[in-house]
Amino acid sequence: MNLPKSINFANLPTKIEKLERLSQELGTQIYIKRDDQTGSEISGNKVRKLEFAVQEALDNECDYLITCGGIQSNHARATAAVAAKLGIGAYLVLRGKEDSEVEGNYFLDKMLGARIKLITAEEYKNSRMEIMEEIKSELSKEGHKAYILPEGASNGIGSLGYCKAMKEILDQEKELGIKFDAIVTAVGSGGTYAGLYYENHIKNTDATIYGVNVCDDDEYFKNVVLGLLKEISKYTGEEIYVNKEDINILDGYVGKGYALSEPQEIEFIHKLAKQEGVILDPVYTGKAMYGLVEEIKRGTFDKHKNILFIHTGGIFGWNNFARNLVGN
Ligand SMILES: *Cc1c(COP(=O)(O)O)cnc(C)c1O
Repeated sequence: MNLPKSINFANLPTKIEKLERLSQELGTQIYIKRDDQTGSEISGNKVRKLEFAVQEALDNECDYLITCGGIQSNHARATAAVAAKLGIGAYLVLRGKEDSEVEGNYFLDKMLGARIKLITAEEYKNSRMEIMEEIKSELSKEGHKAYILPEGASNGIGSLGYCKAMKEILDQEKELGIKFDAIVTAVGSGGTYAGLYYENHIKNTDATIYGVNVCDDDEYFKNVVLGLLKEISKYTGEEIYVNKEDINILDGYVGKGYALSEPQEIEFIHKLAKQEGVILDPVYTGKAMYGLVEEIKRGTFDKHKNILFIHTGGIFGWNNFARNLVGN
């Protein structure tokens, strides 16, 4: 199966490292794939998705990228960075308040020159697509051709970035002489999970792909992933047949809600930083890895030998949490 052409933004392949002391503590083998190190301004998992989506935008002669997300969206910041790098425009529709602190990703969005429209949570939930369409027609009056990316670039084209990442993992398995039989990622809009799942299924490995949802619930994401798998196949030309029960979402780690932290999650992030020198983010990877460790303790991973956790990034999300640091 061949993937469509993509533009190169990310530093690839990203490293796979073993978490020695955590593995020893839990009596299993845990590795981490450093997709947090795909770059600096353009870092994290969204870069891999943008490599495919932005190629499509350029192929369609677009000179503006429109996308949406929370005010601290990593995806929005990566889109702003990519646009600046290409010398094209970015217009971000962000869920947030006018008096929001200008920090973290939101600060970087402004620094990278993106135009920003802040909308309420209700507008975001009910009409973000319409709002982006309106911006698109306004831009067209200014003489621009805009390309709309959905939340998290989680559509068929964006998810291809993680089909490619799965290929990369399979190549690295050969180099390292390790077979990963469980691959774990945070799930926020589903594209990362869907891409990994699709390619893993096509390659017919016996690895299980697990997602830890950081918002909504397993039922919601199983449907999202099934939809994305169909969309991916429109680009690859190869449909796969999957049941809802085949999608492994480890629900129960949303905690207080999206982008809200529980003390035990923050404590875990601090513990891992000291134990392994790895900084997770509070919104996605902190919750997901906390969930993974809890599930290992419960025995969910007893049947697996080598677990690979994808560090999907989010480092700039710390800025607006630093004020609320607990424990040390
Ligand atoms: C967006 C994001 C995720 C979730 O990936 P999806 O493809 O949206 O499910 C995980 N980690 C980080 C740091 C992210 O920014």
